[in-house]
Amino acid sequence: MKKAYIASIVLAALIVPGSDSGLSNKKPTGKDALQTVKTSEYREIAGRIQTGEILFDIFKKYELDTNELFKMREASADLHRLRDVSPNRPYKIILNDQEQIKSFTYWINGDTVLSIMNTDEGFYAEKTVVQYKKRIEYIGGVIKDNLVSSIGNGNGGLRLALQLSDVFAWDIDFTTDIRNNDIYRIAVEGLYLDGKFKKYGDIVAAEFINSGQPFRAYRYEINGKADFYNEEGKSVRKAFLKAPLSFRWISSSFSRGRKHPILKIYRPHQGLDYAAPTGAPVSAAGDGKVVFAAKNGQYGKLVIVKHRNGYKTYYGHLSRFAKGIRTGRHIEQGQIIGYVGSTGLASGPHLHYEMRINDKPVNPISIKIPRGNPVPEIMMADFIRLRNEVNTRFASNRFESFALARSSTLLNSKSTKAYRSQP
Ligand SMILES: [Zn+2]
Repeated sequence: MKKAYIASIVLAALIVPGSDSGLSNKKPTGKDALQTVKTSEYREIAGRIQTGEILFDIFKKYELDTNELFKMREASADLHRLRDVSPNRPYKIILNDQEQIKSFTYWINGDTVLSIMNTDEGFYAEKTVVQYKKRIEYIGGVIKDNLVSSIGNGNGGLRLALQLSDVFAWDIDFTTDIRNNDIYRIAVEGLYLDGKFKKYGDIVAAEFINSGQPFRAYRYEINGKADFYNEEGKSVRKAFLKAPLSFRWISSSFSRGRKHPILKIYRPHQGLDYAAPTGAPVSAAGDGKVVFAAKNGQYGKLVIVKHRNGYKTYYGHLSRFAKGIRTGRHIEQGQIIGYVGSTGLASGPHLHYEMRINDKPVNPISIKIPRGNPVPEIMMADFIRLRNEVNTRFASNRFESFALARSSTLLNSKSTKAYRSQP
């Protein structure tokens, strides 16, 4: 009997009013997002934790027995400290007709629920991870303006766009390479609860046709570690990212109501100049060691990173260095090393990016860059089977405006502005 009781409580926990991933069909109402339901058997208090609020405040507010709160704390001590409740997280308290706690549920995060039940043997706590139903969604479209606006900002679109930009971060610079009428196709896990779409999970495969050149990536697990491989089973990872300015960071910081900044790239000299807003984070293109982080004449505030095989990358005109960036420091690919600025000889905020091999400048865009490990030969047949499956699905799904791909236009083609900068 007890087992069945717990099961039903867990089910009830799954319909706690809306968490930020929208896990509910009930909407909290009123300014403090609170609702109470009274039936003959029980009373329900449900809402979201307010800023600065602790459970004790809630118990006081509803004149509940704080002794019970103490027992609940003890019951859940090993699973989750009840003192640690975060603002905006939904909770639900069910009381019996004697105003005693029957159950308490709290969303620790978007996917994990803490349930505390008052059983015959006292309070009993458990943590449940929400079991979403997964369904592979096929999403595709044509680029208009930028990736985020094309996929759509709402309903998980931003997150999906950022995931896509991560998958292709070694091949496509989503801040400057994207052209109107580029095509994207994504196979992604759709996560459902009670038959309703909640959010996107992992990308399973993706294709991006950039100026007519297709890039494809397939998620594949090797020794329990999932990663992306191209059609030939080669790793999409390379020693250097395509660009030192992260589309993810720029999109995330400019997505809330502000116009998406259009970045431009110039090549007035050896190296590349990225026009970008002051303060945009600059990422190290590859793993390495900082060998210089100081002011240096026309470069202004400059970071030089030394990589394997004689490679060095230069990041100039920074407004400031990231915390902890100093000579001798080891850094990882994608790690933020500084912020865009206009120090040194620069007529406007931009990043000067340069790559050298054995101190000889090279064009980071056109040189061939070493890749990560491919799919092992022994797993190749399996990989190809999976790849073909995805390709068939991609081919059978209709996406808009294929013909347009041939007439792709340069987004910023009208721009003739160039930055004057020596380094
Ligand atoms: Zn420059």
